[in-house]
Amino acid sequence: YGEFNQKIDYVFKVVLIGDSAVGKSQLLARYARNEFSLDSKATIGVEFQTRTLVIDHKTVKAQIWDTAGQERYRAVTSAYYRGAVGAMLVYDMTKRQSFDHVTRWLDELRGHADKNIVIMLIGNKSDLSTLRTVPTEDAKEFAQSENLFFMETSALEATNVENAFLTILTEIYRIIS
Ligand code: GDP
Ligand code: MG
Repeated sequence: YGEFNQKIDYVFKVVLIGDSAVGKSQLLARYARNEFSLDSKATIGVEFQTRTLVIDHKTVKAQIWDTAGQERYRAVTSAYYRGAVGAMLVYDMTKRQSFDHVTRWLDELRGHADKNIVIMLIGNKSDLSTLRTVPTEDAKEFAQSENLFFMETSALEATNVENAFLTILTEIYRIIS
């Protein structure tokens, strides 16, 4: 829609990181194509998807990168982080371990990415909140202490997905423009 012949003012590379199966690929499918799949296999093929949006009368192309099943510790290469201006660090609120590993992912980011990268912590699968093992307050406090944006989302129900991407992209825009 309307992407044709559009003048792009900015391209922002945003990377998705976090443990396997937390919902990174489905968050991206929801944001880029408004799709969701319950039986999504380990990510294959496409390295990134784009969505074009307008922020402050400027046309921004968000280029969002998804790991191709390289979530094993330290398997994500520095090429993945190169040029990234934003990172969505995702955990599954029903899997405590995926939250405990967030500090590792932050170390990775701080080792490979630009020091001014905007980071948003995402607690995904809020539709399963009856199975929650990570309290909102714990994540919020952690995010505050590490200077991260924080949001809880559901790729399945499309809750806060739009909001999360718009928030990080707007913050990137604010810093870069
Ligand atoms: P990735 O390995 O981080 O890319 O995770 P996927 O996006 O492949 O998702 C892993 C599994 O969790 C799949 O079965 C998804 O359908 C499921 N999933 C992803 N997001 C959600 C969500 O918001 N709610 C629920 N209930 N399941 C989800
Ligand atoms: Mg994936």
